[in-house]
Amino acid sequence: MRIAFYSTKPYDRIWFAPLAADYGFEISFIELPCKKETLGLAQGYDAICIFVNDYMDKEMIDCLHTMGVKAILLRSAGFNHVDVRAAQGKLEILRVPSYSPEAVAEFAVTLLLAVNRHIHKAYARTRDFNMSLNGLMGMDLNQKVAGVVGTGKIGQAMIRILQGFGMQILAYDPFPIEGLKVEYVPLEELFRRSDVISLHCPLTAETKNLINRESIAMMKEGVYLINTSRGGLIDSDALIEGLLQKKFGGVGLDVYDEEEGIFYEDCSEDIIEDENLARLMTFPNVIITSHMGFFTMEAMQAIANKTLENAYALERGLPLVNRVQAVVPV
Ligand code: NAD
Repeated sequence: MRIAFYSTKPYDRIWFAPLAADYGFEISFIELPCKKETLGLAQGYDAICIFVNDYMDKEMIDCLHTMGVKAILLRSAGFNHVDVRAAQGKLEILRVPSYSPEAVAEFAVTLLLAVNRHIHKAYARTRDFNMSLNGLMGMDLNQKVAGVVGTGKIGQAMIRILQGFGMQILAYDPFPIEGLKVEYVPLEELFRRSDVISLHCPLTAETKNLINRESIAMMKEGVYLINTSRGGLIDSDALIEGLLQKKFGGVGLDVYDEEEGIFYEDCSEDIIEDENLARLMTFPNVIITSHMGFFTMEAMQAIANKTLENAYALERGLPLVNRVQAVVPV
């Protein structure tokens, strides 16, 4: 199998190159993102392999189909960036449904702890020998209420960790897990009662802008909001308004609605045109990271394993257990 591997970073080669050699696959590592302008690079390949910010619309899917590409291998669990419906009957879409839920959950907790205890500010201060504690007071998590939106694999890992802190857990999921030791409540109640809200649901038509003016208005004063799922879950304008009204104790964002083309790139010499992102960066109680919740050795190894297992199943005509169909993304 010949695979055109888009958006390659040095760490992708480390995990994928030796494994691909074991399978006998020929991978062409392309540093460019997958866009209309770069799609021609997939000519002559059996599959393309893409990451979370490689958006794939109907026109691109039709183009790949015409070129004879048979599959899109996603190096991710989320598939909101691909027009799944357009690919139906033309290309297989295979994803990595689970690689390390703990990696993302542990990162969500990292964001929460960092923003709550002002680690980002304390680190900078002490390096300058400013040992003052003014403005660095946090809150205990013990006995506080955490609202977890989405109790799938990552949400459940998050719940286990937060319970370890002694937090009371409220949860919302349209498909509750039987026997899970949490209090499932309607979403509005979760917004009203939680001291910490962490998002672990996929981005779909239903969850787009789940965090908006109305939902923010329902939240407690001083609430902490953590998003490691998808940027589109939050209406950035509403979030900025809420921050300006001092609604939030802290906000941790590993994802951003318009992250494509910025996240994963070194833009330190660029003029940032996205005004919302630039504004969000200015709040002292907001920490933004570059979609790196997944980024552990264990997760990278698992992503490489699963992606190439999917390719192997496709090549050999084996059952495609990680095929994406049904759910229609945004
Ligand atoms: P999962 O499929 O195991 O769980 C998702 C859960 O969300 C399911 O229980 C589902 O019923 C629930 N859900 C669906 N619609 C909902 C709604 N309207 N409201 C509340 N819950 C809803 O997925 P997962 O592996 O736990 O991943 C969750 C999300 O995390 C992914 O969709 C992806 O966007 C994100 N993610 C981020 C990173 C990162 O690096 N930051 C890495 C992996 C995954």
